[in-house]
Amino acid sequence: MLGLEIRQFPCLSDNYGVLIHDSDNNLTASIDAPEEQAVEDALKENGWTLTHILVTHHHWDHTQGIPGLKAKYGCKVIGPRGEADKVPEIDESVGEGDTYQFGRFKAKIFDTPGHTLGHITWYFPDQHVAFVGDVLFALGCGRVIEGTTDQLWHSLEKLAQLPRETLVYCGHEYTAANAKFAETIEPDNIHLKARIGEIVEKRGRGEPTLPTTIGAELDANPFIRADRDEVRMAVGMPNADPAAVFAEIRGRKDRF
Ligand code: ZN
Ligand code: FE
Repeated sequence: MLGLEIRQFPCLSDNYGVLIHDSDNNLTASIDAPEEQAVEDALKENGWTLTHILVTHHHWDHTQGIPGLKAKYGCKVIGPRGEADKVPEIDESVGEGDTYQFGRFKAKIFDTPGHTLGHITWYFPDQHVAFVGDVLFALGCGRVIEGTTDQLWHSLEKLAQLPRETLVYCGHEYTAANAKFAETIEPDNIHLKARIGEIVEKRGRGEPTLPTTIGAELDANPFIRADRDEVRMAVGMPNADPAAVFAEIRGRKDRF
């Protein structure tokens, strides 16, 4: 992975915390801060000191650890420009088109609204890694809480342009429940069937199903596939535009 060390660990009831580390410069960033103690434990386990918190969106389960961690480590908090006023103790804000240099690693920022209005994605192009918060999940996507289904669809379209091999770290372990819903949309999708087998095995062993990849999601995730003919047909909207198909699927999931 060209040098970027990544550690993922469970937090709260179904969140994931992630640490990324630049060993040349001895820098460590927490992607969001779901839970102070869990982040600290992961730091200690690796012998790392927290220098940055890179925030995807303002929700409580992604930011509540910030004040405690900042008090302890004096780390720098970088978060979404569009909702900077809602991120506690933010030092710097970033948005679409910005790059952020984390030690020797360069992140590109995408605005990915829909779940929240200011939600951003942290993408490290040279390492092929994206931290997508609650926009995209394995076999699912975030709920539309602040924005519109159109916004969330366009956010997914942006992520769909990334190279297939891009590793995708998401905010939550929702995969098993997402798989049950995905099956109702595309019961005959062979990629989805294969994924479900893997998911059952992994969860049976208590292992995470994340990270996923852009390619795996393009093959099996009905939400990011809303522009595919198979999915349009499956929801009975053969001539509808992708944003409308996406809205239909998102609505079905909300009622599922
Ligand atoms: Zn959220
Ligand atoms: Fe969340």
